[in-house]
This record gives sequence, C-alpha cells and structure tokens, in this order.
Amino acid sequence: MNSHFKNCENCGNVFIPANLRQRFCNPDCRHENYYELNKDKFKQRSIEHYNNNKELRKEWQEENKEKIREYQKEYYLNNKEEFVKLDKKRYLENKDTIRERQREYYLENRDTFSEYNKRYSLENKKYISKYNKIYYLKNKERIRKQQQEYRQKMKNTYLIKR
Ligand SMILES: [Zn+2]
Repeated sequence: MNSHFKNCENCGNVFIPANLRQRFCNPDCRHENYYELNKDKFKQRSIEHYNNNKELRKEWQEENKEKIREYQKEYYLNNKEEFVKLDKKRYLENKDTIRERQREYYLENRDTFSEYNKRYSLENKKYISKYNKIYYLKNKERIRKQQQEYRQKMKNTYLIKR
C-alpha cells in the first residue's frame, strides 16, 4: 500500500493529498463535509434568521398589500392560460381520486346532506314555490313549447317503433 494515497473522508474516493493535512479529494467534498457536520447549526441559524425577520416581513407585506395584490393579479392574468392548463392537467391526472373522494365525502355525510336539504326546502318553502311560479310564468311559452316538442318526439318514437 502506497502511503501517498488517502481515502477522502467525504466520498471515500482514493486521492493523492497535496499535503499531510488534506482530508478531502476536492473542495466540494470539503464543503459538503463541513455542511454535514454543521447542518444543525445552519438550520438553527436559518430558523433564527427567519424568525428575526418575521415581524419585518409582516410589516413590509402590510405596507405593500395593494402592490402585492396587484402584482399577483397581473401575474395571474399574464399567465392565466398556463394556470388554467395546469389546473386542468392536475384535475385530469387526479380525476379518479377527486371523484372517489367526493363520493366518499357524500356517502359519509349523506345524512347531513339530506337533513340539510330537507330543512332548506322547509325553511324556504314559500320562497321556492314562489320562485317556481315566477320562473314558470316567465318561461311559460318556452316550457310549453318544450313540452310539446317532447310529446311530439315521444309520439314519433312510438310510431316508428310500431
Ligand atoms: Zn471526496
């Protein structure tokens, strides 16, 4: 074994040290090792830094609320298509999961939903019937025509079938 060779203390690679004190094969390994050894200290420092600036950040956000909102709005408008596309993609990718979750949620809360619907229609009985009446009056002609068309269609289907 040649005593000129050493194993890097970080990556384990064999290297030829330039001097006896060299422990790592290259500066990256030295930095990496230093970071590994002081990870907790770095993390602690960044948390402290974050906490120290929390108040300042809040203040700044409060002062620039309008500007930030405007910027976000503009950013959204400029990238609207991208956002819509992304939303759509996300939805399509998770369609089954989303549907399944909605179904599960509905099933789990079916009693609550039906209870809610019942109460809602009871509480708004007058309003609903009034609304229906108004809706019917407003759309009388259209509804009548629709019904007529529907009857005609059924009749035709029936005639054809016979
Ligand atoms: Zn190394």
